[in-house]
Amino acid sequence: MQYFSTNRKSPHATFKEAVLRGQPDDKGLYFPESIPKLSNEFFADLHESSNEEIAYDVIGPYVGDSIPNERLFEICAETVSFSFPLVAISENIAALELFHGPTLAFKDVGARFMSRCLQHFSLDRSEKTIVLVATSGDTGGAVANGFFGVEGVEVVILYPKDKVSKVQELQLTTLGGNVTTLELHGTFDDCQALAKRAIADADLQKEVFITSANSINVARWLPQQFYYFYALKQWQGEPPVISVPSGNFGNLASGVLANISGLPVARFIAACNANDVVPQFFESGEYKPKASVSTLSNAMDVGDPSNFVRILEIFDQNLTDLKTNLGAVSISDEQTAETMRSVKNDFDYVLDPHGAVAFRALSDYLEKEPSQKGLILETAHPVKFDSVKDIIGEQVAVPDSIKNLFSCEKVSIEIEPEYEALKEILLERSK
Ligand SMILES: *Cc1c(COP(=O)(O)O)cnc(C)c1O
Repeated sequence: MQYFSTNRKSPHATFKEAVLRGQPDDKGLYFPESIPKLSNEFFADLHESSNEEIAYDVIGPYVGDSIPNERLFEICAETVSFSFPLVAISENIAALELFHGPTLAFKDVGARFMSRCLQHFSLDRSEKTIVLVATSGDTGGAVANGFFGVEGVEVVILYPKDKVSKVQELQLTTLGGNVTTLELHGTFDDCQALAKRAIADADLQKEVFITSANSINVARWLPQQFYYFYALKQWQGEPPVISVPSGNFGNLASGVLANISGLPVARFIAACNANDVVPQFFESGEYKPKASVSTLSNAMDVGDPSNFVRILEIFDQNLTDLKTNLGAVSISDEQTAETMRSVKNDFDYVLDPHGAVAFRALSDYLEKEPSQKGLILETAHPVKFDSVKDIIGEQVAVPDSIKNLFSCEKVSIEIEPEYEALKEILLERSK
């Protein structure tokens, strides 16, 4: 498979080149030259197929000969080695729970897949790879965990001091080993600016290979298709309406891609919080990025969603086609909190704020289309967000899998938002 740049100025790349580069020089995004169609046998066998077999069949054509088949199968198996249950919430809405991985969020899937690809590609290199990630909470934990213990790779995480939740902070600061965590006296935007500067620093890159592992990398984007097929494997009846809590739109773009490959879906809903650039675009036809605003569903506080161009690319920039397959709505914090309370009271199910945005968007839609049924992607466990307790008025039960986190020691390096401080640490870690 070859990948082209959505800006069409940079040369084509193989899967391996696209993963190592992350982003083409022309600042577009890598996009597959053709979208594979899955066979009738694949769908006929879906209910009997294992999750790793499904993953392997879905991703195989995208990887091509960049990774030998046997190794790719192992990578798939390691990536999806936890459960993806579809749980009924109400009579017409189910949740695909994507929080059973090591850091309790869907980003585990992309991060685990990407880390193993990078490891495979670094086998024939002598120097270390540094993965540098700025995080507002969820991404850093998933990436750190995905790359933890991977040979030849050092992970450096930047997070804003006092601006992530308790569980997120523990996930970021307790791994040790090849993971270094920097606690920055500043905001997430400061973290991101520093990380971008390091990755763009040509002099520094001569001394050490630094990559970002961010959500535009094809190795994080493409494997997110897997669990849409796991949803269908567990679904009964007519094709579902699928509501996806969206920030950078990578998750939704992978679902739409799966749909083009044959996954039966009635319609997608892009469920956004107050950051409504895409819902506004659906109304006006004009795409106007804005500064992001803070909300309860903070992993979706994005003012210029980087992966939305991929959705436009899938639909050949045709707004009519886009609207036939996809709706986009903005849900306020008030509606989010109200939804968390009512779903807890009525169905005894605790949504996290991101899942609640998706639930509200879907239930509003189904009120107008009562003959249909749907599912939401529940993208993170509610225990990760400190706001949940106050909203539903009770403590969220801590899953067994992370109980030991609370007895681990936090280790971080506090730094000022100054480039030289970061650079010094990067050079140190490259040795
Ligand atoms: C990252 C994240 C999202 C948004 O996903 P995108 O692919 O950026 O649209 C939604 N929910 C949670 C919990 C997240 O961590």
